[in-house]
Amino acid sequence: AKKSGRNRCTAFHPGLHEQTSRHLRRASELHGALERNELRVFYQPLLSLASGEVIAFEALLRWEHPIEGMLFPEEFITVAEDAGLMPAIGAWVLLEACSQTARWTQDYSGLSISVNVSPHQITEELIVHVQSALAASDLSPSQLVLEVTESAVVAIANVSVLERLREIGIRISVDDFGTGFSSLAQLQELPVDELKIDRAFVQRLAGTEADAAIVTSIIELAHTIGLNAVAEGVETTAQAAAVRSLGCDSGQGYLWSRPVGFKSVPALLQRLKNP
Ligand code: C2E
Ligand code: CA
Ligand code: CA
Ligand code: CA
Repeated sequence: AKKSGRNRCTAFHPGLHEQTSRHLRRASELHGALERNELRVFYQPLLSLASGEVIAFEALLRWEHPIEGMLFPEEFITVAEDAGLMPAIGAWVLLEACSQTARWTQDYSGLSISVNVSPHQITEELIVHVQSALAASDLSPSQLVLEVTESAVVAIANVSVLERLREIGIRISVDDFGTGFSSLAQLQELPVDELKIDRAFVQRLAGTEADAAIVTSIIELAHTIGLNAVAEGVETTAQAAAVRSLGCDSGQGYLWSRPVGFKSVPALLQRLKNP
């Protein structure tokens, strides 16, 4: 009966069946990926729009799959979350990103590292993982930024964890800002330091007036309540000039660099220092 059920499913929804079995295969492979040392952290620079200097990197996860090659997060993060693997993978990303950043800060002292955090990761355990990553890497808490999605930062259950992380000296950045629905009043109450303007808004900047109005108001909102504004997904010099003239603090995007592997970071820092 089970077999015919599956066949029926295949007959009517071949796409769905394929997706499910790929999902299951990925989940079982992912279980061992950490131990087999197949995960990588890539780094993309954030630049001060005023000085043009690199001020931080964002840590972006990759999976060097032995057969399929380098996989992007969209191909495995949801699988990892559903399989309950994100706390372990997230702890590894924190440790790896902090340790690698500590090496560059020997030459570039002010650099910060921004690490993405899944909503599932925001528990008491995260505080422990952050503290052990900082201790092991000897990085100062002021150099670590955690990027949290707008919906996760608004959830009441997460507030105390985020508050305690800030008490340690870590900064909290609201990722993909503008795609959720937090109000000014709500934001003012939340334990956050920075808003990252979703790249969808930045990339439409040269388009309609409405898009420019959204970016303008996010930057004003950030500054009104004492937060930094970061423009993500900056691909053209026109977009960089637009967000700079709107008073945005920093920028990130393919215009300056794609995310690169650990070994390529020193050369990237050199290139961006002497453009
Ligand atoms: P995100 O946090 O919004 O990260 C920015 C994404 O935009 C990255 O995709 C980056 O490569 C891409 N990007 C940067 N500049 C440009 C640009 O100029 N143009 C365009 N078109 N794209 C640009 P990536 O690396 O594929 O990561 C996708 C998402 O996966 C991230 O979105 C983040 O939500 C998630 N992610 C990545 N690493 C981690 C991680 O360690 N933990 C968790 N929980 N999520 C992660
Ligand atoms: Ca992010
Ligand atoms: Ca983002
Ligand atoms: Ca995004």
